Parts: sequence; C-alpha cells; structure tokens
Amino acid sequence: MHVPLIDLKAQYRKIRGEILRAIGEVCEGQRFILGQEVQKLEQEIAAYLGVDHAIGVASGSDALLLSLMAIGVGPGDEVITTPYTFFATAGAISHLGARPVFVDILPATFNIHPARIEDRLTERTKAIIPVHLFGQCCEMEPILKLAGSHKIKVIEDAAQVIGAAHHDQKAGTIGDLGCFSFFPTKNLGGYGDGGMIVTRDEEIARRLRRLRVHGSEERYYHLEVGCNSRLDELQAAVLRIKLNYLDQWNSARRACAQRYHQLFTKAALLSDLTLPEIVPGNSHVFHQYVIRAQQRDKLRYYLKEKGVDTEIYYPLPLHLQACYKDLGHREGDFPEAERLAKEALALPIYPELTEEQQSYIVEQIKLFYA
Ligand SMILES: *Cc1c(COP(=O)(O)O)cnc(C)c1O
Repeated sequence: MHVPLIDLKAQYRKIRGEILRAIGEVCEGQRFILGQEVQKLEQEIAAYLGVDHAIGVASGSDALLLSLMAIGVGPGDEVITTPYTFFATAGAISHLGARPVFVDILPATFNIHPARIEDRLTERTKAIIPVHLFGQCCEMEPILKLAGSHKIKVIEDAAQVIGAAHHDQKAGTIGDLGCFSFFPTKNLGGYGDGGMIVTRDEEIARRLRRLRVHGSEERYYHLEVGCNSRLDELQAAVLRIKLNYLDQWNSARRACAQRYHQLFTKAALLSDLTLPEIVPGNSHVFHQYVIRAQQRDKLRYYLKEKGVDTEIYYPLPLHLQACYKDLGHREGDFPEAERLAKEALALPIYPELTEEQQSYIVEQIKLFYA
C-alpha cells in the first residue's frame, strides 16, 4: 500500500466538472487580474469569517508582508513571533528591515507561549504575529490584552487554519489583521499561489487595497510605494468552488484525527508517541496531524519503506537558520522549539484519507515499536 501525505488528485476527481466550468468562464471573459471573481471571493470569505473586509493578494507570504506595511512596520522596528513556523512569517518582518523577535512555544500545542511575550517587548515593538500552527489557534486572550495595553497590533498568521475557531471566533478575525494562504496544499488551496488579508479596520483595508497595486487608488497616480501583489481571476474562480466544501472537508479532517487517536490508543502506542492535543474552546481543522516520536528519524525511514509518506514540519527552527546568523541566536535559546524540531512527524491527513489507509499506517507504526 502507498499512502501519500496528501492526495489532491482524489479531491479533484470529485469536483472536476465544477472546476473546469469555472475556469472556462474566466477564459471566456478574458479578464485575469482583480475582476469579478476576486471581488466575489472577497465578499464570500468576509461573510464566511464574519469580518468586514477581505483583500485578495498574491500569496500568504505577501499577505503577511502587506499587513506589516499597512500598519507601518519599517527599519528598526521589532515584531514578536514564534521560531517554530514556516519561514514566511519571519521573512516578511525581515523584508521590511524590521527585526523578528522570537518567543518559545508551548510544547503541548506547538504555538507561541503567551506568558513569555511580555519579557520581549521594547519601545520598538510594533506588532505580534501569533501563528496558529497545524490547524489550531493560539491562546489569544493574553496576547490581545498585552497588545492592547502596549498599543501594538496583532497580525494573525492564519495560513494553516482557515475555518478553525477560538471560542466561537473564526481564526484570522480575532486580532487586527488575519493572513491566509491559498497555497495548493492548504485546507483551502488554489491551483497556484494566492492569499487573503482580513480586517475590521476600514482604513487599514483601504491601505491594503492600494498597497497591492503599487500604492495607487487612481490608476497611474501613486500615493505611496506599494507592490504588485494581486490575486488572479482563475485562482478566485477555483477557490469560490472549493469554499463551498471547506466546512465539509475540515470535518472530514477532524474525523481522521479522531480515528488516529482511537487507533493509536487501541494499539497501546501512547507511551512511545505523543498525539496532538486539542485545547478546550478551540475548533481544530487539522491542516497537519503532527505526532511527537522518540526515534523520529528511524520511524520515518521505516514508514517510507512501508509506503507511508510523512514530513517534518519543521526540521530547523527559525532562530537557527543560516540567514538569521546576524540575529545572534544559539542552540539552547528556544529549547521547546528545538526539541520539537527533533520529534515532530506529520502523518498523512486529508479529507479523502480512508479508514483502511489509517489502519495500515498505525499498524506499521506498531510493528516499528514492536
Ligand atoms: C503556507 C504558509 C505561509 C505562506 O503562504 P504562501 O501562500 O505559501 O506564501 C505563511 N505562514 C504559514 C504558517 C504557512 O503555513
């Protein structure tokens, strides 16, 4: 048996007709950038999340970059975030000449440790970017409280959590801005790059709309230097179809996670593995199902031999990346992130994953530990 980490072809088979029709309509219209499809997708995402403004951009990375630009982050500023995330989170900060200031994670949720943020605040801190990793929201209350009392902004990196909720608030709508990615393997993935920023702040929304078109509100007249970061019509048309399935697909992912939990418990593997934890008040959308395993690398190799694909998110925390040498960090600075990088193993999870495949995976893991 071969079990891939994700099987986008299985999803495509189910929606092929609808997708091809939608793409065909865009081709008939021959308008490809910022047209009706993008506008409708922005309205539909805003309605789905319960937020006032949604602005389509070229990628999740750009969503972070433009959000930081929109709140005025620049050279010399500091932005607090986690060292345990995809590089884009910190890259956006550095790109603007600002400094990423890292805070270690909570071992149980893999998300930023809220009680450790205050120590890292300085007069130069402009924002906090909590990253909702693998499908579950950060503990937002202490973060919002701290940001409120220090008058700094909160930008949620919600690239991995579209549809998730935290105490009945949708991920991405809790802070000042929320950033989403439509990278093909995300829970809501396009057929190429794409991203979205959401906010309740009308002024910020207006600024974002001009930043994505080189800072202009009236064509060829530029109020500020922005960039070219637009969502295209083909992506928006595909995403509008897929948005209709998002809740159903997220439920299917949750069911897979529950099934893993049952299978691992039944196989008596809980002394060898740590399973993902769902914090009360959170609705998890399992973008990834990440277990912690002693002998992670051996287990991964064993599974590969048995036809089970896995992935390591992420093998090297950001404070130890070559490009961040000048931040002056060393091994030991963020021990929880460093430990997780050695133990984390993502197992296959996607809405079409079958019971039979999951049983096979758990059976192989049992054989490894036996
Ligand atoms: C995917 C991802 C991004 C970047 O999104 P792109 O659309 O690939 O640019 C940013 N942050 C996190 C946590 C992600 O998972």
